[in-house]
Amino acid sequence: MARMPGAEQRLIPRNFTADGQESVRGLVVHIMDGSFEGTDSWFRNHPEAQASAHFGTSRAGALRQWVDTADRAWAQAGGNRTWLSIENEGKGGDSLTSAQLDRNAEALAWTHTRYGVPLQVADSPNGRGLGYHAMGGSNWGGHTSCPGTHVVAQLAEIVARAKKIVGSGGAGGSQPSGSGIARYQVTINGLVYGYGAHGDHVTKVGEALVARGCGKHYRQGPGPDWGDADTENYADYQRSLGYSGADSDGVPGEASLRRLLGTLPSAPAKRVSLAYVLAAARTDPGAAQGHQTHAADVRIVEAALKDEGLLAAAYASDGSYGTTTIAAYARWQRSLGYSGSDADGIPGRVSLTQLGKKHHFTVAA
Ligand SMILES: [Zn+2]
Repeated sequence: MARMPGAEQRLIPRNFTADGQESVRGLVVHIMDGSFEGTDSWFRNHPEAQASAHFGTSRAGALRQWVDTADRAWAQAGGNRTWLSIENEGKGGDSLTSAQLDRNAEALAWTHTRYGVPLQVADSPNGRGLGYHAMGGSNWGGHTSCPGTHVVAQLAEIVARAKKIVGSGGAGGSQPSGSGIARYQVTINGLVYGYGAHGDHVTKVGEALVARGCGKHYRQGPGPDWGDADTENYADYQRSLGYSGADSDGVPGEASLRRLLGTLPSAPAKRVSLAYVLAAARTDPGAAQGHQTHAADVRIVEAALKDEGLLAAAYASDGSYGTTTIAAYARWQRSLGYSGSDADGIPGRVSLTQLGKKHHFTVAA
């Protein structure tokens, strides 16, 4: 049983699966396409609704818990077993109000302290963090316009506000580490830092901390797995730079990292074959839905188009250069000033290289 302190407790008597929450990968954001009280009544009083959410917000800033988080709410079909849900009052196309951003941040911060959900935006059902309904695609009911692009664009702000809440100890619970040590991750230049991060770049940070005299929390190491000792040493380093509060929580920011290492490391660039992507663009649209020709290369291009805001996340990792990807790539070409047959969604070397420069891949023949 888990109820969020700070949320108004008005649990509904139906439209959920008791004890059905199998795990918590994160919190999924929805838009109601309706009013707060109307949605409350629909979930509460109508067995035919077959719908619910763990939490709901009103545009004025109420936060209500409808379903205990031990129970499975019915909000996102195939995503119900492993993700919690929050509905938000508004219509499709709306942005959330600032009060709603705060309530979503509080709910996310609570999932962080209660379930160890990382404070980051998730963009696929395989991720963890703050997700959104459309990212689940057809397996999650195919709600591609929930919560809408304006709200999706606000997710990073919700995460930022949740970090402030957690950093100030205001989330109504202890950190998962039980010791107040921050346990969230950040991605800088394609590399992940913070608790649980792994790689040579983590070892390099540890060695640089030791070299600066900020290694006293290591019992062993430094090594390639980021643990609490790394966070504590990094916090000492941040304080030595004069940072305080949430800025000295031991999770790197770009500025402190650059000062520590003298440079900002980046993940090795991926390689995309122009010939492969061209073959896929010519084959997949005419083949069966989801047909893959060179999935690995296509996925890199799709991810870049998604990051540009040109391709919905639900399509961004299918590895199929189908009509949706053609349309998204055509939008990229138009954004570069191409028109007519130069903006037909079939990649050319110049447009693909431009995309790679922004999104960390190189183009091979
Ligand atoms: Zn939804």
